[in-house]
Amino acid sequence: MSIVRHEGRMQVTCDSCPATYRRTYKVEDFDVLIADITSEEWKKFKQEGQWRHRCPDCSKSVERRLV
Ligand SMILES: [Zn+2]
Repeated sequence: MSIVRHEGRMQVTCDSCPATYRRTYKVEDFDVLIADITSEEWKKFKQEGQWRHRCPDCSKSVERRLV
């Protein structure tokens, strides 16, 4: 999972580039984290049983490749 924990806070990182989501969240705010990144078009998906995350820029380039 590409959620980095440091000092009790979580930060989402992109699996396809070095981007990190600008906000960090407390562990108990996991639901808020997911709601926030989803509303900013970060994508989460399961790959080989692990959750992965993709920033809006990478999501766009993936979609472009699929078209
Ligand atoms: Zn990215």
